[in-house]
Amino acid sequence: MADKVRLSIEWLSGCSGCELGIVDLHEKLLTVLSEVELVRCPILMDTKEYVEADVGLITGSLRTVHDVESAHKMRKACKTIIAFGTCPVYGGPHGASFAHENEELLSKAYVKNPSTKTTTLPQGVPQLLEQGTRPLDAEIKVDLYIPGCPPHAAFIFEALTSLLRGAEPKIGRRNVCFGCDRAMVKSDVSQMRRAFEGDFDPKTCFLSQGCLCLGSVTLDRCLSPCPKAGVPCFSCAGPSEAIVLEPQKDVRTEIATRMAHLTKIPYDVIVREIETQAKTFYAYAMSSPVFREKPTFLLKKWIQPERTA
Ligand code: SF4
Ligand code: SF4
Ligand code: SF4
Repeated sequence: MADKVRLSIEWLSGCSGCELGIVDLHEKLLTVLSEVELVRCPILMDTKEYVEADVGLITGSLRTVHDVESAHKMRKACKTIIAFGTCPVYGGPHGASFAHENEELLSKAYVKNPSTKTTTLPQGVPQLLEQGTRPLDAEIKVDLYIPGCPPHAAFIFEALTSLLRGAEPKIGRRNVCFGCDRAMVKSDVSQMRRAFEGDFDPKTCFLSQGCLCLGSVTLDRCLSPCPKAGVPCFSCAGPSEAIVLEPQKDVRTEIATRMAHLTKIPYDVIVREIETQAKTFYAYAMSSPVFREKPTFLLKKWIQPERTA
């Protein structure tokens, strides 16, 4: 029998949802484990060392000095590195920290907090990176990117089994709309509604009903569960290929153009609504150059009224 592939897992700053994504493989996990020797996995094993491995799977993003040190140790120990989940690929939801200073965030979390009485930071708070949250490839070379928050088990299985066979994973380039059955139709809707304002027709696209949904600018790494369950997509899997590859293509203008075409809501009103909720709609990838370096991404300007309020 051929030697098993040695798999090492490390989690940086994240929520452990990606590890649960692996558990979601259910019985297919047995197929993967029959070919893999797990040599490091902080959620399962008390292994502190960065042992040598064929494949290193990293979840979470670079948020602390410790994250950066761990990423380098993994790169040194592993032949292939996979950025697993939206956090290591784009920075993930805590990328919204880009809109604030570290001192402001720490103070809000630990000091100016209704549930604490301290005037100083507690000991042991990890040292945050000066430059805020960063994706994994800001520090180390990454060989394979699998975004998703977490990626759907079907994509995880395809990627892992391809790697075990030494093949290139085929994980698709479709957007979330591809898996959504709602029909994009023209409507007379003239006002925006937020998701919680409810009572949406389950067969009609949210955009046609005046509610922002980012399915058309989001890569499908989830099989579109949210619009199927009555919730608009907020792009947790990260941007579509078109947004990633074309510097001038922008989530805000793409969605506003589509929605203004489908409804009677003016383009400028839609643009302003996206800007108002930018920390939600851009959060998952805003710490990546994919958004940060776009000339159209003006987050700090958009949230100015909120900051000075
Ligand atoms: S990508 Fe999503 S599920 Fe995975 S660690 Fe980050 S926040 Fe959690
Ligand atoms: S924009 Fe949203 S609701 Fe409309 S088709 Fe795409 S995923 Fe479905
Ligand atoms: S928010 Fe969008 S990308 Fe995230 S799981 Fe829902 S449908 Fe998929």
